[in-house]
Amino acid sequence: MKGIGVSPGIAIGRAFVIKKTEAKVSGVLLTSEAEISAEIAHFEDAVNKAVSDIESIKSDKHLSLQDEDLAILDTQIELLTDPQLNDDVLEKIKSDRKNSSDAVIEAIDAFVQMFEGMEDEYMRARAADIKDIGERLFKHLNAGSSSIETFPPDTIIIAEDISPSETITMDIAHVVGFATRAGSKTSHTAIIAKAKGIPAVVGCGWELGSITNDDLVILDGISGTVQINPTQEIIAAYTAKKDAYQQSAEKLKALKDQPAITTDGKKITLSANIGAADEFADVFEYGGEGVGLLRTELLFMNRDSFPTEDEQFEFYKNVALQSKGVPVIVRTIDIGGDKQLPYFNLPAELNPFLGYRAIRICLDRKELFITQLKAILRASVFGDLKIMFPMISNVQEIRSAKRVLAAAVDELLKEGVAFKPDIKVGIMIEIPSAAVMADILAKEVDFFSIGTNDLCQYTLAVDRMNEKISHLYDPFNPGVLRLISNVIEQRHKHNIHVGMCGEMASDPLATLLLLGMGLDDFSMSASAIPVIKDIILNHSIAEAKEIFRNTMQMDSSDEIIAYLQKHTA
Ligand code: PEP
Ligand code: MG
Repeated sequence: MKGIGVSPGIAIGRAFVIKKTEAKVSGVLLTSEAEISAEIAHFEDAVNKAVSDIESIKSDKHLSLQDEDLAILDTQIELLTDPQLNDDVLEKIKSDRKNSSDAVIEAIDAFVQMFEGMEDEYMRARAADIKDIGERLFKHLNAGSSSIETFPPDTIIIAEDISPSETITMDIAHVVGFATRAGSKTSHTAIIAKAKGIPAVVGCGWELGSITNDDLVILDGISGTVQINPTQEIIAAYTAKKDAYQQSAEKLKALKDQPAITTDGKKITLSANIGAADEFADVFEYGGEGVGLLRTELLFMNRDSFPTEDEQFEFYKNVALQSKGVPVIVRTIDIGGDKQLPYFNLPAELNPFLGYRAIRICLDRKELFITQLKAILRASVFGDLKIMFPMISNVQEIRSAKRVLAAAVDELLKEGVAFKPDIKVGIMIEIPSAAVMADILAKEVDFFSIGTNDLCQYTLAVDRMNEKISHLYDPFNPGVLRLISNVIEQRHKHNIHVGMCGEMASDPLATLLLLGMGLDDFSMSASAIPVIKDIILNHSIAEAKEIFRNTMQMDSSDEIIAYLQKHTA
């Protein structure tokens, strides 16, 4: 069975199949005002019970919850008490005369669809939290209860998908693997499995339904395969593979405190991409030396109005305090397009990716921009924060953004509030025009960070969300590589700092090529750092340069990928 390997490693164990009671709309309508009042009370009671469930999970000492678990639970409490969700449910009960279960199912579905339609992968994955609270509410509305599940040793969990609170309330001491029918690389199962170091394969499809309790299962989180009741030979082969994997994982973990230096002595900086302060535990666990990208969108989500300057200040200050003094690049808000905020009613657009988004909104709605910049500046006295503007396409945008920054500085001076006056300012290079004229833009800012996720979509005219054309979304396309190389070249020509925070920075196949281009600052999800560090430690810049030179002679990504596969092994 083939799925998506999202957490590496091999697991051999017995299946435990988790079945869910399907939440189905009954269609039963309410016929009197008394029934409506009763259903409203029933819904409010379910919300209170669901919140107190989560509070008791949070305070359960046996679960030894990590900061990231607590953050998920807090998000779920916020979602449960979200005024928009509550209003939607009450409206359906009062005006449409729906019973509370149907109203909850429909309102949750609408929320899930909204999140699933967002561009940002992290936000899309939050749809799982909404489904999770929906299931919890549904259980209470239908008088069920949730309990903590325990499993026998060497259990492999087989499920439709695993909800955020399930992974937290599961006694995972005996769980050696997860296989799910649904899910993606950024789904919650993937995030938790990776954080706990448990191999996982998601998106296995309907075939997973053929597994029954106690089947012997081999799960390979690297290749994304699941085997049911394999032969003795296969079991023996995978047992050997599992031992080899464990040895290499131990070796990689031991690299944590070792600097990433090539065999010919070049130090490379490896940083992490994060969305909130509680991710610093992972950053340091995997040996991250800083944060190359703090996506600030999370701060603006799950609320019903823009955060105030003070609220934002607290968020950035917390980031600065948790950072233990390592550099942190704070990217100003990258909303718009299909990354919508429920309270910011942007009109629908024909081409949202080419539309009103990120810096374009900030320069149009300067009051929002100045609030964020003042909050970041105020927090900058607590750590080594830098400011980065996303989606820059021309020099005027940089100059305008810097004027707003100067206005923020003026306001803080007038208010007599402390801030770091010499904060470094940089831009994302993620639009082809910016990559082509990197030499011009280099004169305007302190640093560049290459955003390959958008650079690739805009250069190739391939929507990064559209599965039908995903085979065309190709960072190894020679055209994309030439743009990236042009940006990195400016490092020496214009003495500007150049990093990369797009997904390509975490692709082991791209590491030597990027080193050969002269990149010395990579930022990626924290857990990807050890693998990239291992490649750096075992190769020289001389080798990497040769790989780069040869690659640039090739005319297709097929040839480039085959060549890189041969030379990275
Ligand atoms: C990018 O475009 O490469 C990037 C890092 O930004 P995001 O994925 O948030 O658009
Ligand atoms: Mg981007």
